[in-house]
Amino acid sequence: MNRTDVVVIGGGQSGLAAGYHLRRLGIDFVILDAHPEPGGAWQHTWDSLRLFSPAAYSSLPGRLMPPQAGETYPEAAHVVSYLTDYEQRYELPVVRPVRVTGVHREGELLRVETDSGTWRARAVVSATGTWSRPFLPAIPGRTEFQGTQLHTVEYDSPAAFTGRRVIVVGGGNSGAQIAADLAYDTTLTWCTLREPRYLPDDIDGRALFDHATARRRALDEGRTDTGGVASLGDIVAVPPVRVARDAGLLKAQPMFDRITPAGVSWADGTAADADAIIWCTGFRPALSHLAPLGLRGPRGHIPTTGTEAVGEPRLHLLGYGDWTGPASATLIGVGRPARDAARALAGLLR
Ligand code: FAD
Repeated sequence: MNRTDVVVIGGGQSGLAAGYHLRRLGIDFVILDAHPEPGGAWQHTWDSLRLFSPAAYSSLPGRLMPPQAGETYPEAAHVVSYLTDYEQRYELPVVRPVRVTGVHREGELLRVETDSGTWRARAVVSATGTWSRPFLPAIPGRTEFQGTQLHTVEYDSPAAFTGRRVIVVGGGNSGAQIAADLAYDTTLTWCTLREPRYLPDDIDGRALFDHATARRRALDEGRTDTGGVASLGDIVAVPPVRVARDAGLLKAQPMFDRITPAGVSWADGTAADADAIIWCTGFRPALSHLAPLGLRGPRGHIPTTGTEAVGEPRLHLLGYGDWTGPASATLIGVGRPARDAARALAGLLR
């Protein structure tokens, strides 16, 4: 039997940030990660993805991300190298590949069932991200389409779509970046629920983090909600998006109403034929391993106070989205909630 004080589930950036702070506080812990290699979701993003912040503003606690030679906004592979180095540098005890299948209450302890045995711990940090739960909206006719359908998680590069008619769905960062990627060598139709909202060109991840923090502070102090990052816009205008937009190649259409065998159609009778539909429609938190604890609240989230699960102080949630801390699903933003979670657990274990 494996026994430790804290099991951290997930060895992406959120799990590593938790590990950094748990180590500093002298807490005994292990990180269980389903991936065979370090780097979390960054191992799977599309080829042209660029971070929306310069390296130094995309850093985890303790160690600045070094700049990538020749690139202001680093590539995903650079993040993978950084995370690989990070876990080695701080000697974080990551065990992989281990997939956690369920967390159960067992008296004073939590029992963590995995595909490689059982761990027992006094507390658990869940940091499993969202990448493994792609979300697709329910649109009539989706199963009738004769072409190819894929989600952001399956998209690599424009090479497979050269000369083809492609519909990209989604007005967020993934939709804009993938539409920009495809704008040159395909017949592109970009469909968004509302007119694309670009953030001012000079705003990058650092400003977003400051904005998210100011909002959290305002809410904590009972002041008016500043509206958070979403009030600024939906799309960070990273250089490739800016170039395609300014060249007039990113003209968005309203969302279609139906999928047909040949493509998509709108209620006014217009239609667009397509060889492929790429769904850049977001993700949901990967929380199924926590189902045995019966903590699920509205919208599939587990309600939290800060990072602590309401009704189960032995469980903390890290990453996922703003509901576990301002900008906690970003590299620069996860450090603070990770520190707070580790401190709370140190108090609990004392
Ligand atoms: P992940 O990186 O997904 O890591 C979770 C880990 O948990 C994985 O290794 C997985 O194998 C493991 N896991 C999952 N389930 C289990 C289980 N049951 N048992 C054991 N292990 C499990 N952020 C920025 O700061 N800058 C950006 O420019 C930026 N761009 C982004 C672009 C895109 C397209 C997306 C989707 C996100 C972007 N983000 C960006 C947001 C964020 O940084 C990433 O989503 C990040 O990967 C989240 O890290 P994480 O550790 O919470 O989750």
